[in-house]
Amino acid sequence: MKNLKLASLKTKTKTIISVGDIHIGKDFIVIAGPCSVENEYIMLKTAFAVKKAGASMLRGGAFKPRTSPYSFQGLGLKGLKILKKASLETGLPVVSEVLDTRDVTWMCEYIDVLQVGARNMQNFSLLKEIGRAKKPVLLKRGMYSTLSEWLNCAEYILSEGNPHVILCERGIRTIESYTRNTLDLSAVPALNELTHLPVIVDPAHATGKVSLIPPMCLAAVAAGADGLIVEVHSDPEKALSDREQSMTPVQFAFMTQKIRILRDFLDSLEEKHSGAAA
Ligand code: PEP
Ligand code: MN
Repeated sequence: MKNLKLASLKTKTKTIISVGDIHIGKDFIVIAGPCSVENEYIMLKTAFAVKKAGASMLRGGAFKPRTSPYSFQGLGLKGLKILKKASLETGLPVVSEVLDTRDVTWMCEYIDVLQVGARNMQNFSLLKEIGRAKKPVLLKRGMYSTLSEWLNCAEYILSEGNPHVILCERGIRTIESYTRNTLDLSAVPALNELTHLPVIVDPAHATGKVSLIPPMCLAAVAAGADGLIVEVHSDPEKALSDREQSMTPVQFAFMTQKIRILRDFLDSLEEKHSGAAA
């Protein structure tokens, strides 16, 4: 791929991004939490539940990019304060989406990772502003974007001086309409051939259906992802956004158990293989 002066695997070895005690790109990460921060009670209840189930980081949107202007738009600053409280109480770092260039600097006081949503992947002013920020970035794939376009967006952030970019595959639009989007899992091994940046998978926004999330999470592990991001809500039926793709804490805990078993199994095979090759 041309023009990838900084994002290409040819330029450097795997990027490892440290957030608190976790090292993204080295440790497998599971980010979980509600689609939107709705109130303190739900946020804290969900945060403690996902922590208990082994989540490494919390998510929660305070600024929501909704299809309709009449849908819940998020709590803004109030949401970020709640998220910060959940972070302090659980010890888990937090990721939240930034929609506007004017919010990048001040939002950094409340969160550990800035999320660029699918709808803003090619918002070049936002990418440049984030490139000047001192926080890691979770860059979601645009729903109509090729891998090349996506990597060029990462390049925008890197070229402004921020080397800490995590790529997140979240499904693309295809002719299929049963699922919300189509999870492009081949993007994971493909990106691992093209870039040194960590790659995580979001099967919640890709499928839009809770029942499809655990199998796709396991498939993402098998495909070589560096982590996962999913939506968990203490009471999904009452969620103000993305209800159909929000897992209960019990569903999430069962899934993290399966993920752990699959990862241990794959790691043991790798060890055996490298032992035999040595
Ligand atoms: C989200 O993470 O809640 C979200 C809006 O994701 P995406 O940008 O992938 O649609
Ligand atoms: Mn969502």
